[in-house]
Amino acid sequence: MSFARTIRWPHTLSFRLTLWYGLIFTLSSGIAFVFFYGLIAHTLRQRLDSQLSGKISEFEAIFNLQGLQEVKSAVLIESQAAGEKKIFFRLLYPSGVAFSSSNMSYWQTIGINRAAVRRLVEGRAVRVYETLTIPGRPDRVRIAYGIIGRGVVAQLGYSMESDTTFIAIFKKIFFLTMSALIVTALGVGWFMARRALSGVEAVTRTARKISDTDLGQRVPIMARHEEIDRLAVTFNQMLDRIEKLVAGIREMGDNIAHDLKSPVARIRGMAEMSLAAGPYDNCEDDALAASTIEECDRLLEMINTMLMISKTDAGVSETHMQPVNIADVARAAKTLFVPLAEDGGLTLTCTAPDTVLVSGDLRLLQRAMANLVDNAIKYTPAPGTIEISVDHDKTNKEKVNISVKDSGIGIGADDLPNIFNRFFRCDQSRATNGSGLGLSLVQAVAQAHGGCVDVVSEPGRGSLFTLHLSGLPEIQTNPGD
Ligand code: ADP
Repeated sequence: MSFARTIRWPHTLSFRLTLWYGLIFTLSSGIAFVFFYGLIAHTLRQRLDSQLSGKISEFEAIFNLQGLQEVKSAVLIESQAAGEKKIFFRLLYPSGVAFSSSNMSYWQTIGINRAAVRRLVEGRAVRVYETLTIPGRPDRVRIAYGIIGRGVVAQLGYSMESDTTFIAIFKKIFFLTMSALIVTALGVGWFMARRALSGVEAVTRTARKISDTDLGQRVPIMARHEEIDRLAVTFNQMLDRIEKLVAGIREMGDNIAHDLKSPVARIRGMAEMSLAAGPYDNCEDDALAASTIEECDRLLEMINTMLMISKTDAGVSETHMQPVNIADVARAAKTLFVPLAEDGGLTLTCTAPDTVLVSGDLRLLQRAMANLVDNAIKYTPAPGTIEISVDHDKTNKEKVNISVKDSGIGIGADDLPNIFNRFFRCDQSRATNGSGLGLSLVQAVAQAHGGCVDVVSEPGRGSLFTLHLSGLPEIQTNPGD
């Protein structure tokens, strides 16, 4: 499973940064809302209180100049002018008992706050205000008490309907704007987080490519963010060191393989001479010489394969590249391996069109094909089937797929990522002859041809190895030629 597919986005840094961004934005907007809401409500109440207080002062002036009767008629005129559902007036004795009022049919439920009246009478306050909620009605009423003359207290009530409407509109506009802004903030936050982390993603992409292909990849250095660039430079420096180290190890391996070739060949020669000089009285000596030759052959085969992989890794020389009919290569492999397969109780088949051309090194392609078929035979117990097939890719006709499918022992999911590594052998196949180099060579050949090899396998059910190469257009032959 690829790394990209295992990412759960709620766990990504971009997602968390966006969430924090949105959260901080929402929280600060909430605080701003509470602040403005409080400010507006306070200002509106102050304005209303000063209006109510002004009205009481007006009545006070009328009382002083023209007497109580004039105040009573002023009260009626005022309430009718403003609207009886908007404002009401009561005139009270210092005991808190009403002796005159405007039309109170709409304000029946509003009583008299005797404590407020007492505070005024006792001189503890000049004005007393309170806000009452009227049961069953959405608006509230602001009430002011004040003394307008000797022994007369005025109670004034004013419907806060217009203020309530204003605040409701304010809330609605605020919430609508905030919702739009929060969505925008999340979008902007996501964009900024992705931009800030794009450098980290470039490093990740490069790291992923390296494990998939080669060590030559580097993270591009662009003037992004200081920290990301430093990370990219450090990462590239580390890759330089790893590349040098791996190249050193490979070179050492190649040198050892190269240097071992001659002594092993000499030992083989000596064993051959000793065998030719026989037969000896002691037939164990003959057997020893013969098995020395066999082991030397195995060693030489390994050394040659290692050197071949290194050479192929370095690329295929142009002079060896030629149009190869890979269908013929597959048929030849079948012919070559049929006896071995039949000996092992296996059925080997090959399905391929007459001509499927690729550009490649014939010898290397034959070797890769032989390795795949040889493995299929080695790791398929009797009775079993092995199918070789060659065809153009169904989705991309320019590509060619060469596959070897067997009904053998299969490969465990833990081993699958390692089987193309040099010298890797699955535990279950250690009893079978092999060096662990066959598939490394197949992969090196595929890559040297600009292609790749992949495998699908299930333990106990078999394996399917597919070599993907670029095809060549078929050469059109003139029937008259
Ligand atoms: P070897 O010389 O051991 O066959 P390879 O590089 O060809 O080395 O293969 C590496 C390992 O992959 C093998 O040891 C074997 O465990 C496993 N393998 C390769 N091909 C098959 C197959 N067709 N079926 C099961 N296992 C396979």
